Amino acid sequence: MSQPFNAASLARENVKTMTPYMSARRLGGNGDVWLNANEYPIAPDYQFSERNLNRYPECQPVAVINNYAAYAKVKPEQVLVCRGADESIELLIRAFCEPGKDAVMFCPPTYGMYSVSAETFGVEQKKIMALPDWALNVNAIRENLSNTKLIYICSPNNPTGNIIDNKDLREVLDMAAGRALVVVDEAYIEFCPQYSVASWLAQYPNLVILRTLSKAFALAGLRCGFTLASPEVIEVLLKVIAPYPLSTPVAMIAAQALEPQGIETMKSRVETVTENRIALREALRDLSVVEHVYPSETNYILVRFTDGNKVFKALWDQGIILRDQSKQPGLINCLRITIGTEIENTRVIEAIAALC
Ligand SMILES: *Cc1c(COP(=O)(O)O)cnc(C)c1O
Repeated sequence: MSQPFNAASLARENVKTMTPYMSARRLGGNGDVWLNANEYPIAPDYQFSERNLNRYPECQPVAVINNYAAYAKVKPEQVLVCRGADESIELLIRAFCEPGKDAVMFCPPTYGMYSVSAETFGVEQKKIMALPDWALNVNAIRENLSNTKLIYICSPNNPTGNIIDNKDLREVLDMAAGRALVVVDEAYIEFCPQYSVASWLAQYPNLVILRTLSKAFALAGLRCGFTLASPEVIEVLLKVIAPYPLSTPVAMIAAQALEPQGIETMKSRVETVTENRIALREALRDLSVVEHVYPSETNYILVRFTDGNKVFKALWDQGIILRDQSKQPGLINCLRITIGTEIENTRVIEAIAALC
C-alpha cells in the first residue's frame, strides 16, 4: 500500500518551519497604482539584439563588470555581478557561515531578506534593535559579536529611509576587523550618493557593499545586482556562485544601462523622484490622519498614521497598493509609500485626504 506523498514532511527541518519572504508580488493586490516595491514607475527602453543564444554566457560578463567598476570608482577585481542584491545576501551566507555554528547580525526594523536567507541555510540570527532614532546600537553590536560572521547594515535603511552614521559604521568595521564582514546594503545609494562608503574599501578589507540595478536604474525586472569588496572576498564568493548567474540578455541590458548615457538617464530619474518625494512629504504632513512623515533619502517614505490599517485597506480598495510595515518592531501604524509619478502621488494624497 502506498503512502500519500507529503513533500512538506521531507523538507529540511528549518525549511518546514520557515515563512517565505513576502515580496510585494507575492502579497498580490489588484491595483493600478503600485507603490509597494520601491520600483521606478516608468519602464525604461532598451535594445536587445544578441544572436548567440546557443552559447552559455560569461560567468562575470566583462563589459558589465568594467562598466560598474568605472561607475562605482573601484577596480574590476572588487566587483561581482549576480542576480540582484538578494542573491548577494545569500551568496555571502553560503560562502561564510557554517550552519549551527556561525551567526549573521542585522538591526531591525530593516530589510527582510537578511532573515529569510539566514533561515534558509539554518544560520543563527542576531537581531540587534536599532535605537529609537534608528541609529545603530553600537554597544549591543559589540556585545553580540562572538560567533557573528556577517553584519548586514542597510544604509539608507529600508523601510525607515535614514542613513547610518559614518562614525558608527567605522566603529563597527573596527570591532569586526579580522572576525566578521560588515555588509553595507546600498540598494538606494543613487538617491544620496554622497553617503556611499565605497571609497572606504581600500581601508577596510572586511567591508562589503551591496548594490542593485533594481531601484534608481529602473530595472527591477532585469534581476541584476553587484557586490563590491576586496578581491579576496570576491574570490571566495566566486567559489559558490552559480556557473552562469546572468543570462545573455540580462548582461547586454545591464552593460547598456551602465554606459555613460545610461548613468546620465539614471541621474535625471533620481532628480525627478527626489522632487516628487519632497512634494509628497510636504502634502502628507498637513493631513490629520498622518502622525509623522519620516525624513528619507530614498525613493520611498515611511509614514506613521493614526490608524495605519485603515489607510492601507482604504487605498487597497481603490487600487493603490502600499506596503504595510506595522508588523516590524517599532513600526506600528507605519506604511511605506514608494514615490510614484506625479499623477500617482496625487492619487495617494487625495485618497488619504478623503479619510480625514
Ligand atoms: C530592493 C532591495 C534589495 C534587493 O535588490 P535586488 O537587486 O532587486 O535583489 C536589497 N536590499 C534592499 C535594502 C532593498 O530594498
